[in-house]
Amino acid sequence: MATETEKKIESRQIQLVSRPTGVPTVDNFEQVTVELPPLADGEFLVKNEWMSVDPYMRGRMKEGKSYVPPFEIGKPLEGGCIGKVVESRHECFSAGDYVLGNSGWREYWISNGKSVSKVDPEVAPIQSYLGVLGMTGFTAWVGLKRIANLQSGNTVFVSAASGAVGSVACQIAKAYHCRVIGSAGSEEKILWLREKANVDEVIHYKQTDDLSAALGSLAPDGIDIYFDNVGGEHLEAAIEHMNNFGCCVECGMISTYNATEPPAAPRNLFKVIAKRIRMQGFIVRDHFADHDEFLRDMSSWIRSGQIDWEESVTEGLDHAPEAFIGLFQGSNLGKALVRIG
Ligand code: NDP
Repeated sequence: MATETEKKIESRQIQLVSRPTGVPTVDNFEQVTVELPPLADGEFLVKNEWMSVDPYMRGRMKEGKSYVPPFEIGKPLEGGCIGKVVESRHECFSAGDYVLGNSGWREYWISNGKSVSKVDPEVAPIQSYLGVLGMTGFTAWVGLKRIANLQSGNTVFVSAASGAVGSVACQIAKAYHCRVIGSAGSEEKILWLREKANVDEVIHYKQTDDLSAALGSLAPDGIDIYFDNVGGEHLEAAIEHMNNFGCCVECGMISTYNATEPPAAPRNLFKVIAKRIRMQGFIVRDHFADHDEFLRDMSSWIRSGQIDWEESVTEGLDHAPEAFIGLFQGSNLGKALVRIG
């Protein structure tokens, strides 16, 4: 019987054809079919089942130096993915294993095992290793536990609170008996935050004329930690209501990612000095030494029912660009995923 590789594997993949100006459009992407080379010794073939779309990918669509190199025009995009090994010539990976890798945006990929880890489908649905048990859950954990030094009783403000990172950040803070204020952009998200994430106060920022006033009225005693996923007006409002010696965890600034001109700084930045605020940015991948501790915490919170999660699933690789663009339109509640297989 012919093995997968003897059959010649054709794989569809999504490539970047032009760098977006402003909000990306589907015309910035194209789907092509390529033929994969035969497996060499020490390699295995993976068929992707799930891939992640993440706001950070927008940064990689720009030219210029950053903490990761830009995507190349005419090459497949990359990102978190979960797939099944369909054939192996590698001693540590066998057909049937599920693996987590960074070769999303395509059907099949060949690996030598570097930067790939196995995931156990018996422990949790495999796609949760891209979300609550994966990079975005870990980001929330790092931001609160390692950057903010979260303490019981803190007042915590989270923007993009119903998204992949924000929804977990809100619930970690609740697990620490904090008072949590979340901001989100739709009624459905507001309801989820109240009813499923048990967030104390919510702001529908798209229906609020004065975000700073809204935050001030919900946090009359000020906020201790701002978990920033959005930047811009949200950051300015948070600085306005931070307590002395508070901490702004600079996780992301999605409101600025499609800006065609450099965004204005928060106009009240001087208050960082006056209030002795600590603002610290971080990149989750610098913290992988703590990953096992994160998994222990998260597994225990999930078992005890303290962490709930949602997934917004787009069907089909060919719709991955729309799923990605949807991040900037608020289309997702919880983790945005694409089911490939
Ligand atoms: P989300 O699941 O939160 O998806 C994006 C959400 O952001 C949207 O659903 C939308 O929700 C909100 N949003 C989009 N545009 C705007 C805007 N202009 N103003 C306010 N809200 C907006 O994404 P992630 O959870 O994956 O990522 C959240 C943030 O964390 C991002 O900024 C990302 O770059 C950052 N990040 C940082 C990491 C790090 O290592 N530092 C690692 C991973 C993520 P709504 O309907 O509420 O507007």
